[in-house]
Formats: sequence, C-alpha cells, structure tokens
Amino acid sequence: MSLKIFNTLSGKKEKFVPINPDYTGFYVCGPTVYDYFHIGNARPFIIFDVIRRFLISRGYNVRYVMNLTDIDDKIINRAKDEGVTSKEIADRYINAFFEDIQKLGVRPADVYPRATDHIEEIIGIISSLVEKGAAYPTAGDVFYDVSQFEEYGRLSKKKVEDLQAGKRVAVDELKKNPADFVLWKKAKQGEPSWPSPWGNGRPGWHIECSAMSMKFLGQSFDFHGGGQDLIFPHHENEIAQSCASTGCDVFAKYWLHNGFLDMKGEKMSKSLGNFITARELMELYPTAAIRLFFLQKHYRGPIDFSEEGLNAARTTAERLSLTYKKLMDLIPENREEFNAENIKNSKRLEEFYERIESLDGELIASMEDDFNTPAVIGKLFDMVREVNKYIDDGVADGPEKDILSWVQMKFDGYDRFLGIIDKTRDGIDFERMDNVMQTVIKLRHSLRKEKNWVLADQLRDDLTEAGILLEDSASGTTWRWRK
Ligand SMILES: [Zn+2]
Repeated sequence: MSLKIFNTLSGKKEKFVPINPDYTGFYVCGPTVYDYFHIGNARPFIIFDVIRRFLISRGYNVRYVMNLTDIDDKIINRAKDEGVTSKEIADRYINAFFEDIQKLGVRPADVYPRATDHIEEIIGIISSLVEKGAAYPTAGDVFYDVSQFEEYGRLSKKKVEDLQAGKRVAVDELKKNPADFVLWKKAKQGEPSWPSPWGNGRPGWHIECSAMSMKFLGQSFDFHGGGQDLIFPHHENEIAQSCASTGCDVFAKYWLHNGFLDMKGEKMSKSLGNFITARELMELYPTAAIRLFFLQKHYRGPIDFSEEGLNAARTTAERLSLTYKKLMDLIPENREEFNAENIKNSKRLEEFYERIESLDGELIASMEDDFNTPAVIGKLFDMVREVNKYIDDGVADGPEKDILSWVQMKFDGYDRFLGIIDKTRDGIDFERMDNVMQTVIKLRHSLRKEKNWVLADQLRDDLTEAGILLEDSASGTTWRWRK
C-alpha cells in the first residue's frame, strides 16, 4: 500500500510512514457541547471517521480519540441563561451529540475524553511549562510565552513578529506579548473552577487537546484532524504546548484539515446565524444522501450547501442502493466462493471480471491518494453502470451468479469506510447492527480459538435462524441479512 497524505505542516503530499508498528494514533478535535451541532460541524465528524475506517480496512490498528470540550464560556453562558449547571448543559448536548453522529452513520471513537475529567493532567502539563520557562503565571492566570518556542507559526506559516505587530485587538495588560495565549484562567464568581498551584480556575481550550491527545495516544502520534479554522491558533498552540512540555520533536506527524461548508458563499457558523443543525437536516434527508453530499467533494475543499446539491445526492444514493439490492436478490442463499478460474471459458464473464477488477484497483488508488473520495465515488458509479448492464443482459445460475457475490463483497468492502449504501432492513439500521455483529463475530472467533466448536457453531446456527448469515473466508468473517 502506498498511502499519500496532504500534510498541512509541510504543505505537501507525503507518503504515510507510521510512527508505531502496533497502532496508528488518530486525534480529532471534538465538539464544544453547548448546543446541537450544525451541519458544517458534521463534516469533520464524517470525513475523519471515513479516513479512519479506510485505514482500518487497509489493516492499520487505528486508535481514534475525539475530545469533548465540556467546560467553556459558551457552556457557562448557556447554563446561566437557563439557570442550570454547566454540567447539565454539557451532559445534555453530549447525549445529543452521540445520538446525532450515530444517525449520521459515524462509528464511535475508541475514547471520548472529557476536559473536566482531565484537570489533573492539564495542570501537570502547565506546571512543567512554567518550570521550563515556557509559560508564566500572572495574577491567577497562566500564559504560554510564544517567544520561547522557536517553531511557533510553523503549521500556520505565521511569524511571531507579524502576529505582534499586526495585532489590532486591545493588548491584554497581563500578557508579555500579544500573541501569548491562556493556559489557565483565574476563577470568576459563580463559575465552575478547580484548585491549582496558581489558585482556583479552569483550563484554557488549547491545553485540553494537548493533555487528552498525549494521554491516550502518547507524546508522538500519527494523525491530528480538525477544520481549517483550527489551524490557527488552536493547532499551532497545541504543538507549542506539547513540544515544549515533552521536548519531543514531533507531536502529531500528519496534520489533516477539512474545508468549510459554505452557505451562500459564507462559512456556515453559529455566530453568523446561517446554519442548519445536523438533526434538522436528518429529518429531511436520508443519512446516505447527506454522507454522499459531503464525500462527493474532496475533504480539503469547500462545499456549497444547497438544496439542489442535496436532492441530487439523494437521487445518486438511491441509485447505488438500488443496484446493491438488485445484486443481493440475485445472489443465492448458499453462495459458492467465487473462483476466477471458473470463468475462463466465458468471454462475457471474463470481460466483466477484468473491468470490475481494474475499477477496483483505481478506486483504492484514489482513496490512497490523499483520500480522494470524489474520484472514489466516480469509480464506484462506473462499477454501478457495469453491474446494471451485466444484470440487464441476463444472469444464469452458476458462475454468472457467483461473480455477483464477488462484486457484492467488493461493494461491502467500500461501504465499510464510505457508509453510503442504504442497507436498512425491516427498519433495523445497518450501522448499528454492524456494531453489534462485529462484537458477535469477535466472540465466535474467541470460541473457535478455544476449540469450543459446539458453542461456535450453535452461535452461527442461531444467527441463521434469526435471519443473519455469517460467512467465513480467508480474509475473515462477514455477515449479511438472510433473504
Ligand atoms: Zn483541539
């Protein structure tokens, strides 16, 4: 595999060389939980999950971490407005976040650390920064001293001198330099706070991500993702804090940033008031259509939000799901494992096989080229056309049907990371079911490893009874609905 990734840090595409052989660390900045998230915020949740799922499908053992910022001015203000605690606001919108991403077909992260559960780690890093002279406490606040970090500005290509000279905002009297940023905020009356060596207070936003990413992924890890609006100052500050505290040269090796979702030419944002929540949009469009709408564009480019675009994506997604259903209907219940040797005497089969095989290679190569999902979807629809033509010309029993089961497995393979085929069955959501089934498959695998064949077979037979077929092959076990 030769995976190439556009790294914001170097400004060019680089070959992926993992830091650790045993696991691939992937950190994505999560939501500040003070409201339902809007559809622009949904873009990183979807795209970075797709990238992570693709890496898993290529054999990487990905450890995926997304933080939840559950202490912030916006949360505190909302709590004040409603006369409830900040924790009540955070809990409410964390639950809503989980509901919404599940409906969006986003697989859960391996860990969702909350900032307020990591105050100790945060204080630890700030203390080490103060000790090393990279940060300074003043009147209950603690600031990071950007002049002490030589590489400050490397990610965003900004120069500290320019930041200081060009800064138009009122200079904070407490800071040494206007570009210095807060690590620890002094407690204010009536706001949540925690004890620290500098008095009661709460963490700044940037330091949370340094603390939580390094806790779960180590001092150096492979991927860090987020929206382009986070490059400066958030990610620049994360690098400064992390590297100054650990002395490590590399904090995150590859920095991935997604483009914005524009509404009539302007970035969709809560502050601009031109937004629609993911929840509202999911009332109007199926998940597959929303995902396809995003994935038809390259993750680094902008997307224009439009009803026409979404309607078109819905039609396209339906066409894909229809072809998939046609395939499923033709595949026999007890499928034979497809063997390319068996088609040698049919020119028609051989041509179809070679065409799909070559499109498959191009599709995977597009995904490996900086996750070029628009090209991937283009190739997938070339396949859809080939498959429809093949089916329309008539399919006999035997190898002509067996080859369709091979195509269906390819489609399943792509959908393991794309999630754009509607496989809902009798109202049961496929994504949710798949999560359950992956656990069941693991369980059966352990039973077989322990040579407990009776129970392992019993499990498979009971599932068949319940309408689910397990299929073992050299590459592992998969499941599908029984007809
Ligand atoms: Zn972050």
